[in-house]
Amino acid sequence: MSTARRVVLLGPPGAGKGTLAERLVVRCDGRHLATGDMLRAAVADGTPVGRQAKVFMDRGDLVPDEVVIGVLKEALDKNPNARGFLLDGFPRTKAQAKALWVMLDERMQVLDAVLLINTPEDLIVRRLAARRSCPKAGCGMVYNLETKPSKKIGLCDRCGSEVVQRSDDKPETIRARLNKYQVETAPLVEFYRAKNLVYEINGAGSAEATSAAAMAMLDRVGTAD
Ligand code: AMP
Repeated sequence: MSTARRVVLLGPPGAGKGTLAERLVVRCDGRHLATGDMLRAAVADGTPVGRQAKVFMDRGDLVPDEVVIGVLKEALDKNPNARGFLLDGFPRTKAQAKALWVMLDERMQVLDAVLLINTPEDLIVRRLAARRSCPKAGCGMVYNLETKPSKKIGLCDRCGSEVVQRSDDKPETIRARLNKYQVETAPLVEFYRAKNLVYEINGAGSAEATSAAAMAMLDRVGTAD
């Protein structure tokens, strides 16, 4: 069976997209495209895109569409022969969803599935408050103080750097990000439902249970090419 599916992971921040992506990426040509990771790398490198994005990210706001669309296009163009991908954190607005549709059309490609992760809001807030990540460029391991602590407290298992709380995972910013999701991103569910692409996953269980359900679902969906 082809492993080159083109999949969008949709769900609020903290729904478990990143954890799920790590496990699903083998079904998607090994290409995990997370715009949040790309933007954080740009901020850390002090690039013009990073300087533009930082102020929005620190507030928990969305980075303007034209900036993020440019970042994603560049990522897709980097590897023109790859067919599959797993999009994590993109699209987040109708304008981004439409731009993605056009980008794929130009490449004569279509999406195979949009996985909608349903996770209750109180669980999301708890998860995000307990999330810690490795700030080292190229590492970026993600931990959770309650469910997935690093082996040595406060230090990354992979590279030994001190793990930190993302500045946008502070409680006041978490609320702002969840509000943004409801206003800007939740309407995409209807956009993709109209195209018969939405598959719902329960994100409240363990990472193993969620990924097993998602894998089984993707295997049933298959790929359009
Ligand atoms: P994430 O790691 O996906 O939670 O993204 C972290 C932050 O990066 C978000 O709160 C936004 O400020 C920004 N960001 C990531 N992806 C997008 C996107 N598709 N559109 C707008 N802003 C984004």
